Amino acid sequence: MEYPVIEINLDTIRVNAAALAALCGKRGIAVAGVVKCTCGSPAVASAMLAGGVKQIADSRLENLERLRNNGINSELLLLRSPMKSQIAHTVKIVDISLNSELEIIELLSAEAARQRKQHDIILMIDLGDRREGVMPGDVIAAAGAIIQMPGVRLAGIGTNLTCFGGILPSPENMRQLAELATEIETVYAIKLRWISGGNSSSLKMIIDGTMPAKINHVRLGESILLGRETAYGKLLPGTKPDAFCLKAEIIESAVKPSQPEGIAGLDAFGHVPVTSGDNYYRRRVLMGIGREDTVLEGLLPCLPGIKVLGGSSDHLIVDVEEAGRSFEAGDIIQFNLTYPALLGCMTSSYVNKHYHDIRPEQHLTGIRIAGMPVSIGANRPGSELAPQAVCAKLKEKLAVSGHAAEDCGNIVKPLLYDASLTPEQKSALLIDANDCLAQFTVNALDENKFPLAVGGDHSITAGIISGLRRRKKSTGMVMFSAFGEFNDEKTSTTGNLHGMVLAACCKRGGLRMVSIPPDMPVENIVLIGLRNVDSAERKLLRQSGIKIFTMEDIDVLGMHEVIIQACRRLSHCTDGFHVSIGMNFADPAEAPGVLLASRGGVNYREAHLAMETLAVTGMVCSADLTELAPVNAADDPTAGFGIELLCSLLGQKII
Ligand SMILES: *Cc1c(COP(=O)(O)O)cnc(C)c1O
Repeated sequence: MEYPVIEINLDTIRVNAAALAALCGKRGIAVAGVVKCTCGSPAVASAMLAGGVKQIADSRLENLERLRNNGINSELLLLRSPMKSQIAHTVKIVDISLNSELEIIELLSAEAARQRKQHDIILMIDLGDRREGVMPGDVIAAAGAIIQMPGVRLAGIGTNLTCFGGILPSPENMRQLAELATEIETVYAIKLRWISGGNSSSLKMIIDGTMPAKINHVRLGESILLGRETAYGKLLPGTKPDAFCLKAEIIESAVKPSQPEGIAGLDAFGHVPVTSGDNYYRRRVLMGIGREDTVLEGLLPCLPGIKVLGGSSDHLIVDVEEAGRSFEAGDIIQFNLTYPALLGCMTSSYVNKHYHDIRPEQHLTGIRIAGMPVSIGANRPGSELAPQAVCAKLKEKLAVSGHAAEDCGNIVKPLLYDASLTPEQKSALLIDANDCLAQFTVNALDENKFPLAVGGDHSITAGIISGLRRRKKSTGMVMFSAFGEFNDEKTSTTGNLHGMVLAACCKRGGLRMVSIPPDMPVENIVLIGLRNVDSAERKLLRQSGIKIFTMEDIDVLGMHEVIIQACRRLSHCTDGFHVSIGMNFADPAEAPGVLLASRGGVNYREAHLAMETLAVTGMVCSADLTELAPVNAADDPTAGFGIELLCSLLGQKII
């Protein structure tokens, strides 16, 4: 190995993030993990996310872009007001930015509208530290102006302290922040998502219980990385201080007089060297690292008896006289780091970065497949044959790629389409079947299995979602469907239950489809592939708050971007999500064997890309395949396509 090297213990970062996320979580405060001190390291961001932080934040766009390109799908927060020269880039890369300049926010608004995106604004307020922020007296007017702008949403307000002026968070300035938030909410009748109460220096108040309840967000960097709060420099409970260790190499070891000799001028950096004390002969070593790499005063030797004397651009001078051992050229000395020294080491391209892996997470132990031979919710029979065409083959395919899958067969009796039944009668019969699926799902989750339902028409999704939400409250759903499935009894022209299943999942009108309605928040749902909506349903969907990516959006943005945006949206409000594949989302050219086909759908490659992109997020916690109506149960091409998609979705999930 070549030196110097900074060793980065990702598991310690995970542990620290978990301790602080739990500490803040107890008080209803969400944590944005700040990675700017590591130059936006994706590995560090992943470790923080594994520890439970909600978002990842950095002050530099380049770092955020790297994170996005390296599979970080959480919400990304830009900590510094965007530059005028980076507006388009900012809207493209980040979800939320901290802002204090209305002129910039106007540019963000125009650009977000152009990119068909929503960009969230946290309005920063200067509460005395005199770095960024509008003055408190200007906050209400600024908030009003932002609320008027298209493309941007006033997602919250925040403040930053203990940076320039060294002003500490206090009950007074935090109360002022909370009161300004309440005032904005009252004056404009809106709800602010985030009241962001500062950085690592705010932890002391959170621990002491003096943080006002209204504050629900903090941005933590140094405390997660180095295990210290920064108001008083105290170690934090449950954290470790040794996530980083710098190892540098000795290039000269000699006994020299402690005092310089000759006529003193300036040192290499233009300072007059201060020398004092007696002149002794002492053992000193030179090391191959310097001010070009880091802040030498921030290097803290791990062993006692070693003292950093100083250095120049490329040399570090260390007194080892009292170390109690000998040091030679080639020996390594280890240092802990202060925040500025860490920043320097991470930024220097001369310091090698060496990551120690995170402990593998407790993973699922297998997939459990349930057949749901149901077409009672559909427009015709056919989908009751899908489990027969899919389950056994799927199990085989998954086994080939090394994934243990258990095929539980059909878990309910066939429940067929019957034109003579009223929607109410169908609903009563469906509830029994879906209750079985909900129970199956609960059992699977309790036994660390991944529940997978093979429909059936789309109405079975209400069953699996009901079970899922009984065990995992903060789950979401990505639903692929050509149709809105958002009708209620009044707007439905057919009375077919599968056309109301999305409404049933979020308890909006619609008939009941399972005993315990899933009641999923609309903001936890993303619908992808939509191209066929009834006119009354269109209005309901528009007003619903469900995030929709139509086929047009897929054309404009590309499938990869659509999935990234979907995951980003879900990652702030959920800790995982269900994937519901209504086979009609694919184009009938590739998937003809569906209950009701709709032209202009997703092609073969896009469909796979969608599943692959979802798989790498690691957030998929259950799935279903529905709306398949095989023409030939023994060897049906559409069933084959569905199996492939599930393999793509699951392949990388269970390792
Ligand atoms: C750097 C920064 C943070 C994180 O500060 P730490 O002291 O590392 O927790 C939070 N907010 C803003 C605006 C920042 O610039």
